[in-house]
Amino acid sequence: MSRRKFLGWMTAAGTAAAASALPAHAASNRHFAGHEGSFAVLHDSVRCVGCRNCEAACNKVNELPSPEKPFKDLAVLNDKRRTTNDAFTVVNRYDEAGAPGHPVFRKSQCNHCLEPACASACFVKAFTKTPEGPVIYNEKVCVGCRYCMVACPFEVPTYEYDKAFTPKVVKCTMCYPRIMEGKLPGCVEACPAGALVYGKREDLLATARERIAKHPDKYEDHIYGENEMGGTSWLYLSPAPFKELGLREDLGITPAPALTAGALGSVPIVVGLWPVLLTGIYAITKRKEKIAREEQKEAVAQAVEKVNAKAEARLKKAAEDAKRDQGKAVENAVKKALADAEKARKEKAEKEAAEKAAAEAPAGAADEGAAEE
Ligand code: SF4
Ligand code: SF4
Repeated sequence: MSRRKFLGWMTAAGTAAAASALPAHAASNRHFAGHEGSFAVLHDSVRCVGCRNCEAACNKVNELPSPEKPFKDLAVLNDKRRTTNDAFTVVNRYDEAGAPGHPVFRKSQCNHCLEPACASACFVKAFTKTPEGPVIYNEKVCVGCRYCMVACPFEVPTYEYDKAFTPKVVKCTMCYPRIMEGKLPGCVEACPAGALVYGKREDLLATARERIAKHPDKYEDHIYGENEMGGTSWLYLSPAPFKELGLREDLGITPAPALTAGALGSVPIVVGLWPVLLTGIYAITKRKEKIAREEQKEAVAQAVEKVNAKAEARLKKAAEDAKRDQGKAVENAVKKALADAEKARKEKAEKEAAEKAAAEAPAGAADEGAAEE
């Protein structure tokens, strides 16, 4: 048993015990009955061509950030990828699962388990298995303990560690809002190869059985998700054993809540201690978040102080420059006024001299005329 699986079951089991001490509205460990007539998606990896159109559609519907490389770039299939905060679904290529030169592609996302381990591990009931099929998440009640991430046997939920104030758990919602409007999930609508089929789970199981019966040479005689972990709302067909497509075949058919309730029922000390542990872990998580918030606040205050100091220095220099410029302007104005006054004085003196000369000139001329007679 892997560490993750063990921790997952232990967590879910502990929560089951803790729930007995919690009020009914906070307990989420009761077994889900599964919903009659619920919807599901069948992914037929025999038909999947690895085009990544489903990834692009998911990105658009969920308004996720644009990836570094465009969805048309199939070189990304050279690496095995997991779902992330920015990619709720990813397609991987499995070269060994197909004939030479004919790789098999498998799309992964939340499998929307009939009795989800994530929901059974969540002691504030942030996850709900809807009657329609999707497993949805309520960020308003989530306390950020991330037990769901440990509990999920398919390693699906991720956490927005990069968001300091409002981090949440994220995963595929099976386009719950769209299907409530009568639309197809975005990925199903975008698939050009008919590799994704949406419908009632019972009908999809019948379709899958028919395909296997008609083409036993093409398909493994196994519908993955029909029974794994009590069944899922995402079903898979494959031309090769599912472990060759990266799907776990060691999960068994017992739903997580049933498994964990039985496993810890005979360990009363753990059952008794678990609520205390949960409370302690929750308190530590909250404290860390509080410290992170305080540190961020302080960093912001320091940055503001720095900016203010720079702005003040710039303002002071601008005031000094303005004062200096103003002084120069006054000096220039005084110089100009003095020059203008001097010029005006000179002009006046010249004018007076000219007038005087003109006044004296006729008398002199008349005296000269009389002398000649
Ligand atoms: S695949 Fe994981 S996240 Fe999705 S419903 Fe199942 S346990 Fe929850
Ligand atoms: S869109 Fe369809 S064919 Fe293309 S990768 Fe997704 S599931 Fe496969």
